[in-house]
Amino acid sequence: MDATPIATDYLVIGAGAAAMAFVDTLLNETNASIVMVDRHAQPGGHWNDAYPFVRLHQPSACYGVNSRELGSGKKDQTELSEGLYELASGAQVLSYFEQVMNQQFLPSGRVRYFPMCNYSGDRVGDHRFSSLVSGENYQVQVRKKLVDATHAQTAVPSTHPPQYRVEPGVQCVPLNDLPKTRHPHPGYVVVGSGKTGIDACLWLLQNGVAPATICWIMPNDPWLIDRANVQPGQDSFERTIGGLTAQFEAIVAADSIPDLFAKLEAAGQLLRIDESVEPTAYRCATVTQTELRELRRIDNIVRLGRVRAIEPTRIVLEQGSIATDPSALHIDCSASAIPILPAMKVFDGGTINLLMVSSCQPVFSAALIAYVESHLADQTEMNAFCMMVPVPRVPTDWIRIWAANLGNQQRWGQHEGLARWLKQSRLYFLTTVVSGLLETDTEKLEQLRRLSASRERARASLPQLLAAIA
Ligand SMILES: Cc1cc2nc3c(=O)[nH]c(=O)nc-3n(C[C@H](O)[C@H](O)[C@H](O)COP(=O)(O)OP(=O)(O)OC[C@H]3O[C@@H](n4cnc5c(N)ncnc54)[C@H](O)[C@@H]3O)c2cc1C
Repeated sequence: MDATPIATDYLVIGAGAAAMAFVDTLLNETNASIVMVDRHAQPGGHWNDAYPFVRLHQPSACYGVNSRELGSGKKDQTELSEGLYELASGAQVLSYFEQVMNQQFLPSGRVRYFPMCNYSGDRVGDHRFSSLVSGENYQVQVRKKLVDATHAQTAVPSTHPPQYRVEPGVQCVPLNDLPKTRHPHPGYVVVGSGKTGIDACLWLLQNGVAPATICWIMPNDPWLIDRANVQPGQDSFERTIGGLTAQFEAIVAADSIPDLFAKLEAAGQLLRIDESVEPTAYRCATVTQTELRELRRIDNIVRLGRVRAIEPTRIVLEQGSIATDPSALHIDCSASAIPILPAMKVFDGGTINLLMVSSCQPVFSAALIAYVESHLADQTEMNAFCMMVPVPRVPTDWIRIWAANLGNQQRWGQHEGLARWLKQSRLYFLTTVVSGLLETDTEKLEQLRRLSASRERARASLPQLLAAIA
C-alpha cells in the first residue's frame, strides 16, 4: 500500500503525559504545526493501562499541561489522605488529557493526532508510521524536529507479564485484576515493594482484609517521601519550604552518605516502612503518615530478594523459599514502572528527547523543554538548561538527582524569559507554593531567603557527597 505523505514542523512519537505537556507549551509559545502518533486509542500513555484504583502520587495541582488546571484545587477528605490536596484518579487523568486534545489541541488547527498508530521510522530521516487498525501507512516529512516522547517506557503489571515462572495451579493476577475478586482468599501474597505494591497492600487493607493474611514480598525496602511535605499552596508553605531547607541543611551537615540519610529521616524528609531495615531503593514514591501506619500493620514481610518462581505450594526467591497455598491469591506488582536510561542529551541534532530535567517531574520537564525549544537556538546552551536528571533507583540517586536538579535550577534563574515563564507555570512545584506571596508576608519571605542560602551551601557540598558514591 502506498504511504500517505504528511508534512509537519514537529513529529511527536507518543501522546502520553510528557508529550501532551510538551505540545501544550509549544503551541502556546510558537506557531508550529505538530503531528502526534501513539499506539494507544486515546491520549494519556500508560494511564490507559493502569489499575482501576490508581491515583496520581503527587497533587493534581502540578500535573498535566500548563494551560489547564487538573482537578478542583480542593483537598481530599478520605481516611488515608489526611486532608491533603487531591490526587486525580487514573480515569480523571485520562478524561483530562482527552479534553486537552479535543478542546485545545485539535481546535487549534495546528495539531494532527493519530491514535492507534505505530511509529516505525529510523528516528533520523525516515519517518513513517502505520495504523494498527486499518493498516494505512504514512510517510512524514519533518521540517523542524522529531520529538521522542517514548523514553519513559512505563512498565505496568497489566502490560508487562511477571519475569518469574508461574506454575499451573497458582492463582497469580496483575493488580489490575484485584477489583475483579469475587470470593475471599485465605491468603494474599503481594509481589513487589514499589508504589504499585504499596497501592495493592493499601487496597487490600482498605477493603477489610486482615493484615495477618497478607504476605508482602519486598525485594528492596524503599525510602519514601512524606506527601505532606510536597503540598502546593501557601497553607503548607512552612512545611514545604522548611522541608526543602532541611534537606539542603542535611546535605551540608552530612559527614557521610549513611549520616545524610539519618539526617533526612530525623528531619522527616524520608520515611521507611521498617525503621530497623536499611532501605536499598529510592523511586520518589510518596505516602502519607496514615498510609505508612497502615502498611506497618503487615508483619509478614519477606526479604529474600526477587521471586524466581511461584509453585502451588512454594515461592522460590533469590535467597531462599517460602511456603504458599494454591488457594492464595498472588498479586503481581513487579513491573519496574520507569526504566533506567543511559545518559542522553535532550537536544540532539534533529531530535528532542523528552527526558527528566527536574527531579521526578516528567510533565514539568517536558513543558520546560518545549519552552527552551521555542526561545533558544544554540544547542549547547539549550542542553545546558536541560541536563538530564537521573531516574531514581537506589538511595544514592537522591544525591545525584539533587546535583543535576540544582545545576539546572541555577541556570533557569539566569535566563530572564525562562525565569518569567517559571513564575507562571502551574507545573513548577515552587510556583504553586509561592504564588500570591505579598511583600508584607515578611516571615515567609525570610523563610525563602533561608531556603535560598541553604541551597547555595548545598550546591557547594554536593560534589563531596557525589565523590563518596562508590
Ligand atoms: C502508578 C503510577 C503513578 C504515577 N504517578 C505520578 C505522579 O503523581 N506524578 C508524576 O509526575 N508522575 C507519575 N507517574 C510517572 C508517569 O510515568 C509520568 O507521570 C507520565 O505519565 C509518563 O508519561 P510519558 O508520556 O513520559 O510516558 P508514557 O505514559 O509511557 O507514554 C508514552 C507513549 O508512547 C507511546 N509509544 C511508544 N512507542 C511508540 C511507537 N513506536 N509508536 C507510537 N507510539 C509509541 C506509548 O503507546 C505511550 O502512549 C506515575 C507512574 C505510575 C506507573
